[in-house]
Amino acid sequence: MRLIFLGPPGIGKGTVADRIKDKYNLTKISTGDLLRENVVNKTKLGIDAQEYMNQGKLVPDELVIKIVEEKLKGMNNYILDGFPRTIVQAQELKKFAKIDQVINFTAKDETIIDRLSGRRICPKCNTIYHIRNIPPKKPGICDKDGTKLIQREDDKPESIKKRLKVYQNQTKPLVAFYNKKNILVNVDTDKPLPEIVDNTINVIGLKR
Ligand code: AMP
Repeated sequence: MRLIFLGPPGIGKGTVADRIKDKYNLTKISTGDLLRENVVNKTKLGIDAQEYMNQGKLVPDELVIKIVEEKLKGMNNYILDGFPRTIVQAQELKKFAKIDQVINFTAKDETIIDRLSGRRICPKCNTIYHIRNIPPKKPGICDKDGTKLIQREDDKPESIKKRLKVYQNQTKPLVAFYNKKNILVNVDTDKPLPEIVDNTINVIGLKR
């Protein structure tokens, strides 16, 4: 099964993907995680991408498309989290992957802003927390490996507004793009996490 998790930054795509991937034997492929790894390892891609990421802008299509195409080689069971984010990316994706379903996560703006500003991540294993909704057992420390949690540079208030605008202008058109292909289903995320996870499980595999 080849799935896309679509929706604005911070809505919970990555968190839900982490909670359902094992049930369906899917690999989560997060372009944000892949790019951040490249930034940390100071690869050429990381150096080229960092400036865009810190400013809350999208990394140029050709860079992101290349890493996804490379990653998907020989894979048939995955969740794409954070890709595609532009129509160009979606058109290119079509050339190397047949997507079965797109889950479009929705929420009120206030919910998204609260999720983004309260998000903390483990820089080592990429586990996602939220200071109130998904707190770690020990404040500020990853449950899995004891690493100190960080707030992403682009989750700070200056970047959040820009990222939401980028979503509106460049990513939201994908909702209509996939709707037309009859492979898109919506999941309302103005609910507690267990309910969001259950609702996502209920729509996976559903044809409209
Ligand atoms: P995310 O972790 O998905 O919020 O991504 C963090 C940042 O990585 C984004 O704000 C972009 O700068 C960059 N990024 C991630 N995925 C993409 C993509 N598909 N296209 C362009 N830039 C991306």
